[in-house]
Amino acid sequence: MKNLNNIADLKPLLEAAVKPKVIITTHHKPDADALGSSLGLYNYFLKKNIPAQIISPTDYGDFLKWMPNENSVINFEEFEEKSIDLISDADLIFCLDFNALKRIHKLGDIVKLAPAQKVLIDHHLEPEGFEDFRLWTTQASSTAELIFWFIELMGDVALIDADIASCLYAGIVTDTASFKHPSTTATTHRVAAVLLEKGAKSNKIYEAIYDNYSENRTRFIGFCLSEKLQILKEYNTALIVVTEDELKKFHILTGDSEGLVNYGLSISGILFSVLIVDRKVARKMSFRSKDKFPANEFARKYFNGGGHFNAAGGESMEAIELVEAKFKEALNQYKNYLTT
Ligand code: 5GP
Ligand code: MN
Repeated sequence: MKNLNNIADLKPLLEAAVKPKVIITTHHKPDADALGSSLGLYNYFLKKNIPAQIISPTDYGDFLKWMPNENSVINFEEFEEKSIDLISDADLIFCLDFNALKRIHKLGDIVKLAPAQKVLIDHHLEPEGFEDFRLWTTQASSTAELIFWFIELMGDVALIDADIASCLYAGIVTDTASFKHPSTTATTHRVAAVLLEKGAKSNKIYEAIYDNYSENRTRFIGFCLSEKLQILKEYNTALIVVTEDELKKFHILTGDSEGLVNYGLSISGILFSVLIVDRKVARKMSFRSKDKFPANEFARKYFNGGGHFNAAGGESMEAIELVEAKFKEALNQYKNYLTT
């Protein structure tokens, strides 16, 4: 049963006279798809009179705080006890936009041990299979698109209002890099079209997400591109390594380094772009590739990570210099993929 998309079995549970108590959670440092799909689903449950609460494993960037009802989200790191109480009391836990419980860090074990039934809605490769109900496919552009499918399956497209539509549209736009990634299908466009009809304002959503950076962040990007970008010509690879001091100097906050890794890939001939950031707890890595380079396999093999074929991430507890050296060594192993 587990490997089937059995989410339709949830319908009677969600439509019972006594509504289940629902928790929605998503991956740490939520991006616009993680938070947009969570709030899209939350706002839908509000309309269905299903009691729901979003618990985020961590904080997230200010550029997401315009989303309708964002202020109802609980940050687990800030309200640990309250979160644990809510999770133990829940009937259903929706896990959105991640495929393995370690992606929600400390929350993972709490969710695992909770008596509630778990629901996975996700589009990442190789889900580990902790759930009871599943709506999963790598064919969806984003988890937000899957939430639309879920609402459709519930027979509730008529309930989608501008609030729900805006959250879901934000997730689709960002996860497809504005309908650019190959995961963008005709269905993605159809879903987006319905969301626009329901009241999502695409120009406002773009502005809220992409024209909302701090001056510090913009100067930081400029600094990284002019001073920190390494082009490893032999491997058609771009690399940016950011130290803790540099993060401090530019007052870099959660979400500020998002998008930086994409600049490397916009250089002609570059097939692989990598960002290594010296965060306090770990060295966090972002991988983006073109064509046949398996970014997720590379991340999994060397940096305890994973993700999509062309967009992946990983981390290391080693010092930043060692991580950079290890990365360059690993690159040599993958040379065949990177030379045309
Ligand atoms: P980003 O570079 O934007 O942080 O992550 C890109 C993608 O890589 C994410 O959508 C996620 O699928 C994946 N990813 C990022 N970090 C990790 C990680 O530490 N472990 C795994 N398994 N996947 C990650
Ligand atoms: Mn996603």
